[in-house]
Amino acid sequence: MDTVAIIVAAGVGSRAGGEIPKQWQLLEGIPIVGHSVLRFAQCVDKIVLVIHPKHQSYADRLINNLALQTPVDLVHGGETRSRSVHNALEWLDGKAVSKVLIHDGARPLIPRRVIDDVINALNDSVGVAPALAVCDALWKGVNNIVTDTVSRDGLWRAQTPQGFRFHEILSAYRNPTTNVLTAADDVEIARLAGYNVTIITGDEDNLKITFPQDFIRAQNILHKEKKVPKMNMRVGNGFDVHAFCEGSHLWLCGVKIPHTRSLLGHSDADVGMHTLTDAIYGALGEGDIGVHFPPSDPQWRGAESHIFLRHAVTRAHERGYKIANCDITLICEEPKIGPHQEKMRQALASIMVIDRSRISVKATTSERLGFTGRKEGIAAMATVLLASET
Ligand code: MG
Repeated sequence: MDTVAIIVAAGVGSRAGGEIPKQWQLLEGIPIVGHSVLRFAQCVDKIVLVIHPKHQSYADRLINNLALQTPVDLVHGGETRSRSVHNALEWLDGKAVSKVLIHDGARPLIPRRVIDDVINALNDSVGVAPALAVCDALWKGVNNIVTDTVSRDGLWRAQTPQGFRFHEILSAYRNPTTNVLTAADDVEIARLAGYNVTIITGDEDNLKITFPQDFIRAQNILHKEKKVPKMNMRVGNGFDVHAFCEGSHLWLCGVKIPHTRSLLGHSDADVGMHTLTDAIYGALGEGDIGVHFPPSDPQWRGAESHIFLRHAVTRAHERGYKIANCDITLICEEPKIGPHQEKMRQALASIMVIDRSRISVKATTSERLGFTGRKEGIAAMATVLLASET
């Protein structure tokens, strides 16, 4: 009889723009949910990964890249977390499962000790869940004024994985008198069905990634685990090309330059800003503009490129990095860049909210060789250094 982990990652995360949902964002080069999959793969016989149908390609790529010995089944989730869990439990029915551990895909750093403790405690209990006692004082407050103090006696902070004997939790989910839609978690569903759930000690490192700053905390925990020396600088490069087309002006590094031709592109075709944006994504190890703002998405048609650059800079800040400096080279025979260089530095400085002394924009020709030499388009390259104090 098998022990199975159900990892629930079916949320769609709904920040605006071309955002990748939280559980599929990269943490140290692996999607957040991938960290959970890797950790459970060492402890259980099978993993069921519950995903949104929209994320099938992310999941296929993850499973292919991890190439685990432990089988990973993909199950599509429902419109709520509890429906997603129920789908996974029904998928497992009849597959000789004895214990099931239900884990939140946004908790990537689940320590092996906690997984093993849940599995072992299921020998004596129908339900087992990790938690930490509340040790801070608890208040109620309205408009930032404390209105009451709440006793913390007997209060716990719930974590996952919440473990159950399989048939009992499946029957709890199937019980028509249990309103699974309003239940806070699987423990509540088990309790509504009359089962006792035993608390075991959780772990502070088993954090749920909720806010942008949680990425930094998670990175630090991973570095501590891997004994990685603190790496607080990252370098990235970018390269981009846009062809000339008919027109009367072009955008370069955030400056509108009157010219006898324009640059062709899906957005405003600001080749300088694109290459700088790609360099920042590159330094973070988070792809390029096309990943975050797919050209296939009509909402980015004609988009002003500062949207892309601001996004990349915000991303760096969320990961705890500042832009130390950047250096852009524009490669073209025309237009003349020199008269606009200082305006470009100033435009980029205000978008990136750094001093212009940290920004270099320079230009070169390719000695009339190649496509830039034939004046068919403009190429640009950039290097950026990100620095972190954490
Ligand atoms: Mg481009």
